[in-house]
Amino acid sequence: MNGWLSGRQDNGANFGDDELRMIPRWAMVGAVLVFAAMQWVFHVVMPHHKHEVLALRLMMSYTWGALWASYVLLIGYVSRDTQRRGMSPALWMLVCMILPGGIGAVVYFLLRQPELSRCPNCATSIASSYNFCPQCQFQTAPVCGICHRGVRITDVYCTQCGHDLASDGAPQRLRVYSDGD
Ligand SMILES: [Zn+2]
Ligand SMILES: [Zn+2]
Repeated sequence: MNGWLSGRQDNGANFGDDELRMIPRWAMVGAVLVFAAMQWVFHVVMPHHKHEVLALRLMMSYTWGALWASYVLLIGYVSRDTQRRGMSPALWMLVCMILPGGIGAVVYFLLRQPELSRCPNCATSIASSYNFCPQCQFQTAPVCGICHRGVRITDVYCTQCGHDLASDGAPQRLRVYSDGD
């Protein structure tokens, strides 16, 4: 799990403009349409009674409209978020739509993969769990020199095989991290 330590630590840290831009236009239009449709259902389709309270009807239409609109926005977000994580958009949009009450979205946020980044050397898409670029062998994370499993940069010995990591001579740009910790 090197990604959590050395990778991009932007998970939730800046949930602002960047994340809002992840919602495609079709989802925004869809959300407005869904909201309008709910107003139509509550105010036109549903029968009016003689002594009903208008405020209650307004509240209901507003709540249900907002709920379904945010559901559309969420599915739009998932459609783009999956792509930058190398996951299947169609599969996860389906999961979010089928599992009721937003459970699909909860499952998605629990299981989603870390964001892909670019190899600094050749710009290939690499998952943050990779230790080497699959195209050019550029080392992106510290590994044990004997068993080649990922290690933390602050480790002195490999947790898997006990190898003395100081003797490996990790690239300078990886060793730089240890100063900050
Ligand atoms: Zn590369
Ligand atoms: Zn090892």
